[in-house]
Amino acid sequence: MKEVILIKLGEIVLKGLNRKNFEDRLIKNIKHRLHFVGPCKVKNAQSTITVTPLFDDVDIDEVENCISRIFGIAAFSRVCAVGKDLEVIKTSAAEYLADHFSRIKSFKVEAKRSDKSFPYTSPEIAREVGGFLADTFPEVAVDVHDPDAVVTVEIRDAAAYIHSEVKRGAGGIPVGTGGKAAVLISGGIDSPVAAYMMSKRGIELTAVHFASPPYTSERAEEKVAQLLKKVSAYSGMITMYTVPFTKLQEEIRDKCHEEYFTIIMRRFMMAIAERIAADNDCQALITGESLGQVASQTIGAIACTDEACNMPVFRPLIGMDKEEIISISRKIDTFDISIQPYEDCCTVFTPKHPRTRPVLKNVKAEQNKIDFEPLFREAIENVKITEI
Ligand code: ATP
Ligand code: MG
Repeated sequence: MKEVILIKLGEIVLKGLNRKNFEDRLIKNIKHRLHFVGPCKVKNAQSTITVTPLFDDVDIDEVENCISRIFGIAAFSRVCAVGKDLEVIKTSAAEYLADHFSRIKSFKVEAKRSDKSFPYTSPEIAREVGGFLADTFPEVAVDVHDPDAVVTVEIRDAAAYIHSEVKRGAGGIPVGTGGKAAVLISGGIDSPVAAYMMSKRGIELTAVHFASPPYTSERAEEKVAQLLKKVSAYSGMITMYTVPFTKLQEEIRDKCHEEYFTIIMRRFMMAIAERIAADNDCQALITGESLGQVASQTIGAIACTDEACNMPVFRPLIGMDKEEIISISRKIDTFDISIQPYEDCCTVFTPKHPRTRPVLKNVKAEQNKIDFEPLFREAIENVKITEI
């Protein structure tokens, strides 16, 4: 029995004249992502995208898994595709749904006929298939008001499709339709979630990670790559730029007043990330900051950090509680990696009493004790590039 996946478009349908661009991008993304799973045909017709594995050995579970993480998809169903013959539809439905029917107590059938040349009307199809299923599974009752399962039969141009379950898609809008941005990624819980959230809004991601060897280890960098791999299951490919940050941090430690360590370090990160972002056609930066979470995330500290760069900075977690962030990190499977105890450059020289209300003028005066421009250039020249 041949299985295919039917995809219903999400918010895309609201986009008026842009709809075609959004649809084209979504199809391109689906094709690209499935490329890593197995050969499939992807066809857009009658406002539904059909994904058909081309060979029997293509793992449809994997295809479904991949589809469930592509933004721009509101809902999808795994369906049985058969010839447009009512008898074939009836017997195929009974065979295909046997497993699901062993777990439910009631059902109803809904039919949709978009191929009007099919000789039965929708109510006739529903009645015929419903009757056949009721006879085949006498222990499962027909219930048109509140059934456990709704069996859907769709008669389309290419084939008849049978299914009993519609799954929720990843939502959002297709990656690439919202421009490109660089996420400042640490090994923590927050920044991978922030990356996921902006990707969901159609942003293509680049990642910038600051490493301070020997204070931070190779394993810490590896952990960040693993986190990005999880995010890329949703966002598609990500280029990761690892910036050597040790010299700048040591300069801060040696020359600046301790209570400004963190804020100056954060300003340097933003300034360097902005340059890497601009070189890679990004129009914004993304961070995982959440208001009030730590000393460097007060309004005053964020204002001081923002002043170090000109690009817009997206902070999708700004109004979220830690619990809410953790729940998303569990959903996207980054939580268990994030909580592995590797050091981050942020925790290398942490002040005992950081300024929660830094005054920009004073921060700049401290920062200007360092001749940072050549160090920025050196750091950028020595960036390591990893494709995720
Ligand atoms: P996270 O869980 O993302 O590490 P956090 O709550 O620990 O966030 P901070 O450590 O203050 O907060 O970092 C705030 C933000 O700064 C992070 O969300 C991330 O965007 C960025 N950031 C922190 N450390 C790094 C790093 N080593 N490289 C790149 N960006 C970083
Ligand atoms: Mg952190």
